[in-house]
Amino acid sequence: METKKKDIRALTKDQLREFFVKQGDKAFRGNQVYEWLWQKSAYSFEDMTNISLETRQMLEDNFVINHIKVDQMQRSADGTIKNAVRLHDNLIVESVLIPTATRTTACVSSQVGCSLDCRFCATSRLKRMRNLNPDEIYDQVVAIDNESRLYHNRPLSNIVFMGMGEPLMNYNNVLKAIDKITSPEGLGMSPKRIVVSTSGVPKMIKKMADDNVKFKLAVSLHSAIDDIRTSIMPFNATFPLTDLREALQYWYAATKNRITYEYVIWDGINDQRKDAEALVEFCKFAPSKVNLIEYNPIDDGEFQQANSKVIDMYVSILEANNITVTVRRSRGKDIDAACGQLANKS
Ligand code: SF4
Repeated sequence: METKKKDIRALTKDQLREFFVKQGDKAFRGNQVYEWLWQKSAYSFEDMTNISLETRQMLEDNFVINHIKVDQMQRSADGTIKNAVRLHDNLIVESVLIPTATRTTACVSSQVGCSLDCRFCATSRLKRMRNLNPDEIYDQVVAIDNESRLYHNRPLSNIVFMGMGEPLMNYNNVLKAIDKITSPEGLGMSPKRIVVSTSGVPKMIKKMADDNVKFKLAVSLHSAIDDIRTSIMPFNATFPLTDLREALQYWYAATKNRITYEYVIWDGINDQRKDAEALVEFCKFAPSKVNLIEYNPIDDGEFQQANSKVIDMYVSILEANNITVTVRRSRGKDIDAACGQLANKS
């Protein structure tokens, strides 16, 4: 009976070193293989040219490398690139490269589908199949870094966890992936250039504070009034705004990091003065920044972006209360790569 081979990238560097010692080889061989796996992103043992043929065969007999495959790459007229990424079990997730004049940002997925049910989001229509492994998250970043160098002549500068899935529902794997991304033995990126965007899972926000993480936090808020938020993000009934705010206060006390809120204004949903005032009230406890994001309608058109007068009203109320506000235009709309549109349609 054939035994299932283990994914070699599930091993830590120490475990790899131990493995080689048990094989009667030098621990150092583990370092070499680790470097091939993570710094050089080797897709096969064959690629490991400074390892003897015999050792490569031994690795082949014992392990697999479950690398992701970019099944389809779509390029938008504005330079945005969307990857449909095939995982070893044939499930697909999507990730996006967003270039601007000053930065190139990777928007990566953390789950196949999503465990939450935001009504305005295309991903919520997909059942959550499973969490992504740390290496599957890492590989998405490497693929986008390569594309950034190839098509935009510069390395990736920023990462946002805003693709498919709620990253705090896959916290341990997201953390491990970020460790690899920021490690000098991985991509060596600064954690300050990484934003984990959550719909607001209070317990996990507190855990992030306790874990003293160095990356940034963004919260998809969309309404600071419980009834309205619950109507568009039903899980808010379980994690109401008072709990979210308390968790954010805890986060701010521990990190002293400004809190960023992602916020879409929809016609007939949160487009009144009282909505903007509630947002100001919610933000008051800590230095805050609000990103007003352009919305991209999904199939049924139930949610429509509010008009520019409403956006101006929000901006003036937030600025009058000394809250930093930016209005973000979406990118990659022509390839369904914009915020809230990721749904494996490619
Ligand atoms: S917005 Fe984010 S958390 Fe909400 S359903 Fe979509 S992917 Fe999940």
